[in-house]
Amino acid sequence: NIELICPATISKINYRPDSSPELELGDGRILSAKVLVAADGAQSRVRQTVGLGVTSWDYQQHALVIYIDTDYEQKDITWQRFVASGPQAFLPLTGHYGSIVWYNSPDEVNRLKALSFDDLKDELVAAFPACLGKVNAVLGTASFPLTRRHAQSYVKQGVVLVGDAAHTINPLAGQGVNIGLLDAAALAEVLLEASQQGLNIGDINVLKRYEKMRRTENLKMMTVMDVFYNVFSNDILPVKFLRNLGLGLAERILPAKHKVMRGAMGLEGKLPKLARGVHII
Ligand SMILES: Cc1cc2nc3c(=O)[nH]c(=O)nc-3n(C[C@H](O)[C@H](O)[C@H](O)COP(=O)(O)OP(=O)(O)OC[C@H]3O[C@@H](n4cnc5c(N)ncnc54)[C@H](O)[C@@H]3O)c2cc1C
Repeated sequence: NIELICPATISKINYRPDSSPELELGDGRILSAKVLVAADGAQSRVRQTVGLGVTSWDYQQHALVIYIDTDYEQKDITWQRFVASGPQAFLPLTGHYGSIVWYNSPDEVNRLKALSFDDLKDELVAAFPACLGKVNAVLGTASFPLTRRHAQSYVKQGVVLVGDAAHTINPLAGQGVNIGLLDAAALAEVLLEASQQGLNIGDINVLKRYEKMRRTENLKMMTVMDVFYNVFSNDILPVKFLRNLGLGLAERILPAKHKVMRGAMGLEGKLPKLARGVHII
């Protein structure tokens, strides 16, 4: 019962709280629905059009993403290490390819980005651990400012925000997709339940149930990421000492380690039914 319209462009979003939201597509078609789910990313046009405000600030780090060709085939292993200038991560792609995420100060990212690919490769090899294997070439780069954004409300009559449209978090622990998927699971649960109860699924009171399930949980995850960011991105001796002590203890105390791992896998906190393996249909 799903019609996929892709590719498509939106020429206009018509929103009035007292009528169903409407999208005018580039090809002239007009779509109308009881509820418009804004899954259109951090710069969400839907969010801006309907006037849902965000609280945001920039981290003092940018992320430089570098697409590389390596000497040997990459396995399904990703790793990340923390240095004072910011995390350094490696994400395997298929075959001999991989993606580096190099967090650094905005000035340093701009300097690195301005280098030729050959010079950048040399700096990369010098800065990253040897377990990367031989890097044959840098094939492409992109950089991103890191911004924390949180919509002050996720819902309006007939409109609901999910994923990065509702929140962007520091990506240092790779939690962005996880919390977006949990949003989707919670929204599916709420809409299905409302539909079974014969309620209007676009009604603000229905959509607020979803917001209640997700906003505080997302805020908790954003706050934990900020603690990691602050603890790992400084070289003050007592902070370093406490950080290393904490990590050492977490490694040795297995229940604590498992709890952290379950949290990172999106298995802790108040979870929607789908995330607990409970069928909702
Ligand atoms: C440097 C960096 C590293 C990251 N690393 C990780 C990681 O390791 N693990 C992790 O889980 N997360 C990571 N994230 C976060 C992750 O990328 C996001 O949380 C995730 O992509 C959000 O998914 P989304 O579907 O909500 O939004 P998006 O991925 O932004 O998708 C929104 C989609 O909507 C489309 N769209 C927008 N407007 C329109 C329009 N008007 N018409 C048609 N289409 C439109 C866009 O083209 C896009 O395809 C990282 C982010 C950054 C910046």
